[in-house]
Amino acid sequence: MNAPSYDAVVIGSGFGGAGAAHVLTGAGLRTLLLERGGWPRRDDQDWDQQAILIDKRYQSDSPLLVRQYGSSTFVPLHLNETVGGMSVFYGGASLRLREGDFARWPIKYSDLEPYYTRAEQLLGVHGQAGADPFEPPRSAAYPLAPVALTPPAQRIQQAARSLGYRPFPIPLALNFSDPARPRCILCNTCDGFPCKLKAKNDLTATLLQEAQVQGLEIRAGAIVTRLVRQGVRITGVEGVDKFTKQPFSFLARLFVLAGGAIHSPALLLRSGLGGPTVGRFLMRHCNGVVAGIFPFATNPAQIFHKQLCLADFYEDHRAAHGTATGIIQDIYTPASPVIRHFAPTGFKRIAGMVAGHIQNLLCIAEDEPLPENQVSLSAQRDVFGMELVQVQHRYTEADCARRDYLTAKARHVLRRAGAFLFKTYRLDSFSHAVGSVRFGTSPAESALDPNCRLWETENLFVTDSSFMPSSGGVNPSLTIAANALRVGEYLTQTYENI
Ligand SMILES: Cc1cc2nc3c(=O)[nH]c(=O)nc-3n(C[C@H](O)[C@H](O)[C@H](O)COP(=O)(O)OP(=O)(O)OC[C@H]3O[C@@H](n4cnc5c(N)ncnc54)[C@H](O)[C@@H]3O)c2cc1C
Ligand code: SF4
Repeated sequence: MNAPSYDAVVIGSGFGGAGAAHVLTGAGLRTLLLERGGWPRRDDQDWDQQAILIDKRYQSDSPLLVRQYGSSTFVPLHLNETVGGMSVFYGGASLRLREGDFARWPIKYSDLEPYYTRAEQLLGVHGQAGADPFEPPRSAAYPLAPVALTPPAQRIQQAARSLGYRPFPIPLALNFSDPARPRCILCNTCDGFPCKLKAKNDLTATLLQEAQVQGLEIRAGAIVTRLVRQGVRITGVEGVDKFTKQPFSFLARLFVLAGGAIHSPALLLRSGLGGPTVGRFLMRHCNGVVAGIFPFATNPAQIFHKQLCLADFYEDHRAAHGTATGIIQDIYTPASPVIRHFAPTGFKRIAGMVAGHIQNLLCIAEDEPLPENQVSLSAQRDVFGMELVQVQHRYTEADCARRDYLTAKARHVLRRAGAFLFKTYRLDSFSHAVGSVRFGTSPAESALDPNCRLWETENLFVTDSSFMPSSGGVNPSLTIAANALRVGEYLTQTYENI
C-alpha cells in the first residue's frame, strides 16, 4: 500500500478516541484521527427540538438494524455521527464507577483512579466531593464546584431529602466558570443537543481542541471500512470519504480503534479480526424514565435542571444479583410538539397538552452481559457498499427488576414533590452501549488484554466503551475517558516496542 504514514491512526473521536489521541499527540507522536461524522454546526438549529430530535440533522447515512425485546424483526435505527462522537449530544453527567463495579474487570478501581482524576480535570467537571453516599475514594477534589440548583432541581432535592435520601449535585462537564470560553447559560436543551454556544465541555471544546494545538490531525467525514492485517500486525486502514465518496488509505505503526460499542466490533468483523467474543456481551443499561404530572407548571422559566442525582440505592442488589442497582437523575422535559410526536397514538393530544406540567426522573440500572446480545453484520449493504450493522438485544428479568426498583423509588420522590399522575416508560436507545469488545485476562473470554490490545494483534488497541466487561450503574463517559487516558499512557511508554 502506497499511502501517507503516521505514528498512530485513531478511528473515532468520542471519549475513547479523543482520550487516546490527546495522550499520543501530547507525547509527540504524529497522530491522525479519522471520524466518519462531520463537524458540529453550532447554529440555531442545534437548539431546535424539531431539527435535532425529529428531523435528526446529524443522523448517519448507515442505519443499524435492531432487533430487541424478543421481536422477530430488525428495525432500522439511525445513530447520530459527528466529530466529538456522542459527547456533542451528551448531558455532561460525569460519574465514576464504584469499587464493587470492578469485580469482573482485569483492573481494579485503584488502577483507574489517577486517570479519573485526570479526566475530570481535562473535562472541567463541576462536582462536590463527599456528597455522593457511595462515592469511591478520590485522590483529589473535583476541579470545579457545582452551580446552585435551579427551581425544578430544588423541588426534587426537597422531596428526596424529606424521604430520607441523600441527593447530590450531578458532576457536570459544562463550562460554568471559564471566562476564556463561552459560558453555559443554563438553557433547557442540553442533553441530546449540541451546544450552539460550545459551552458544553464536549470533546471538540476540550481534549480534541487541545490535541489539535499539539499537532493532532483530524479528518472529518472519513469512514474507515477495513483494517489491513499482515500476520499479527495491522499495517493500514482503508476507507471512503463520506462527502466526496473518494477512497483513502493510511499507514501507521500503531492503531487505536474507538468507533463506539456498535461500530468497533462491526469494523473488526469486516476486517476478519477478533476472537469468539467480538460483538458479544453488548450492554446498554436498563433505563427507564418516570414522568410525573404536576398540578402546576414545573419549569415555566425553561431552565436547565439536569443537576441532581440519587445513588442511595446503588448497592441494594449487590448481594442478590452481583451487580450495582443504579442511579436516578433529574432530566429535562422535551417541548410539547416533541412529546406529542413520540407519544403513542391516542395519547398524542393529551400528552402535548400536559407537557408543561411534567417533570421527569431518569433511572439508570446496571444490565448483565449476555453472549447472545450481539453486534453482527447483515447481508444488506449501506450507500457506501459496507455490510449494515445488526444489533440483537434483550434484557434479563433481573435487569428489568433493577430498573423497576428504581422507577418505583423515582415515583415516590415525584409524588412527594407534588406529582399526582405518573407515566413510566423504558428507554430504547443505545446511548449507553458498552461491552461488545471487552477486555479480560484470557482470549477465551475476552477480545482485549488488560491494556486493551486485541489479543491476536501486536498493534491494535480498542479504547471506546466496548472495552467494558460490565456496565456498572452510572453514566459511562468518564470511565471511557479515564480508560483511554490509561491506555494512551501505556502506548506512549511502550511505543518503541509495539
Ligand atoms: C443523548 C445522549 C446523552 C448522553 N448523556 C450522557 C451523560 O450525561 N453522561 C455520560 O456519561 N454519558 C452520556 N451519554 C453516553 C456517552 O455519550 C457515551 O457513552 C460515550 O460518548 C461513548 O463514547 P465512545 O468513545 O465509546 O463512542 P462514541 O462517542 O460513539 O464515539 C465513536 C465515534 O467513532 C465514529 N466512528 C464509528 N465508526 C467509524 C468508522 N468506521 N470510521 C470512522 N469513524 C467511526 C463515530 O461516528 C463516533 O463519532 C449520552 C449519550 C447520548 C446519545
Ligand atoms: S445548558 Fe449550557 S452547556 Fe448545555 S446546551 Fe445550554 S448553554 Fe450549552
